[in-house]
Amino acid sequence: MKCPTCNRPVEWDDNPFRPFCSERCKLIDLGRWVSEEYRVPGKAVTPEPVEDDETQRGSEANSSESKL
Ligand SMILES: [Zn+2]
Repeated sequence: MKCPTCNRPVEWDDNPFRPFCSERCKLIDLGRWVSEEYRVPGKAVTPEPVEDDETQRGSEANSSESKL
């Protein structure tokens, strides 16, 4: 078995990062997956939904419209 990230042989015994050879490769693969997720068309990065913004919505809408 080879590491999906660096293609080096993976130590399977007592390896908490399987199928990766190391924590670093695991994080690299995870980061790659996350960045691809963000690149999906239609899934453009949007601001986090803000709770309790009913009172702010009016002013925010006005400011964003003025930028357009
Ligand atoms: Zn690796």
